[in-house]
Amino acid sequence: MEAASPEQMATTNGDGAPTFSLELTEDQRDIRDWVHGFAAQTVRPAAAEWDEREETPWPIIQEAAKIGLYDLEGLAQFWFDPSGITMPMVNEELFWGDAGIGMSIMGTTLAVAAIQANGTPEQWGEWMPQCFGTAAEPQVAAFCVSEPDAGSDVSSLRTRARYDEATDEWVLNGQKAWATNGGIANVHVLVAQVDPELKARGHASFVVPAGTKGLEMGTKVKKHGLRASHTADVFLDDVRIPGSCLLGGKEKLDERLARAREGQSSRGQAAMRTFEMSRPTVGAQALGIARAAYEYALDYARERSQFGRLIIENQAIAFTLADMKMELDAARLLVWRAAWMGRTGKDFDAAEGSMSKLKAGEVAVWATERAIQILGGNGYTREFPVERMHRDAKIYTIFEGTSEIQRLVISRAISGVQIR
Ligand SMILES: Cc1cc2nc3c(=O)[nH]c(=O)nc-3n(C[C@H](O)[C@H](O)[C@H](O)COP(=O)(O)OP(=O)(O)OC[C@H]3O[C@@H](n4cnc5c(N)ncnc54)[C@H](O)[C@@H]3O)c2cc1C
Repeated sequence: MEAASPEQMATTNGDGAPTFSLELTEDQRDIRDWVHGFAAQTVRPAAAEWDEREETPWPIIQEAAKIGLYDLEGLAQFWFDPSGITMPMVNEELFWGDAGIGMSIMGTTLAVAAIQANGTPEQWGEWMPQCFGTAAEPQVAAFCVSEPDAGSDVSSLRTRARYDEATDEWVLNGQKAWATNGGIANVHVLVAQVDPELKARGHASFVVPAGTKGLEMGTKVKKHGLRASHTADVFLDDVRIPGSCLLGGKEKLDERLARAREGQSSRGQAAMRTFEMSRPTVGAQALGIARAAYEYALDYARERSQFGRLIIENQAIAFTLADMKMELDAARLLVWRAAWMGRTGKDFDAAEGSMSKLKAGEVAVWATERAIQILGGNGYTREFPVERMHRDAKIYTIFEGTSEIQRLVISRAISGVQIR
């Protein structure tokens, strides 16, 4: 028998089963380089324009759809990578190009993830393709949980879903807040309250098909960052949808509600499960912004001279860049670990998914602020991209669970104590 090479020893446990390796496969490297090419050639050059216009960049979404970066097949390829790493890697590269445009392309995946997590295979087949539309006519989708009085506290949702037995329809009433793609989406996935007495355990997820009467967009929100991504309230006034639009079906919902009424533990809240699945991916988006700012600041520091020497020759600047690189890599390791845990079915005993999003979001805010400092006056102007990156980064300590909520989740997980 031939002796194993050091490389094989590092990646197998002797019987050929993989143990530990951070080596990317050829497929992963190809996908990363392909998305990076799109981000560098198509997304980055358009970033300032769409940030100023504060409009959904439909031509760029269409370009992404044409090359297979924005459709169900592409998403499935990223999602079902057995290591879990491809999805965060794709997000990091795309958001390295620009976060506003990145969110216009990736916002749809939140709704797709909700359909995947809560729907039946028939519902996946019906609704997921409609979230993307076609390459010639791409569409977007929205996932609406938050409400004006229910942001961090999703248990206090007021949007009501009532079942009309006579017509086998669900009737939705309420208001959703800050929905990415809200009101312009082809498919809206909404979380609503079916039984208010059960609080979060009485929630269910519904699909509202395009053109349904009673769903209206509120005023489009003007934002600090991520301005190419559309955000708006959604009003629901006696919105009637077929019974089949309840994700998971009525039988399963009735069973779950019955268990909750008896005080038995249920499988968890629909909304929280979806968020848990998506946290490492959201962390990877923040990482993409942070890396873009770090790289820009590094190049700038190597070219800019003051006092007769390059500014990078000062330890104050060089050490900051060293810290930025270290924090970025630490955040990426947390993101990859959580993505791998999710994909391989590991339990998140210490809320590792929340950890990855918390760390990456905070690194992004810190690193983009440091990048502005390294660029000095130029960094503060819209002539240079780091001020936009800083504005874009800030949302990552707020949406998908604020930093405080992530700390709450982690501290509860590690202590078993109901920390408040
Ligand atoms: C650009 C953008 C896009 C968004 N996209 C979507 C979307 O697509 N779908 C969707 O459903 N929602 C979306 N949201 C909403 C987002 O998820 C919420 O804003 C977020 O969950 C925070 O809720 P809130 O704004 O009501 O803040 P609050 O919950 O009111 O929190 C305010 C402050 O209080 C702190 N706080 C609250 N409770 C506690 C506690 N128990 N302990 C310690 N601190 C606490 C928070 O951390 C925060 O600092 C989006 C928001 C924005 C701005």
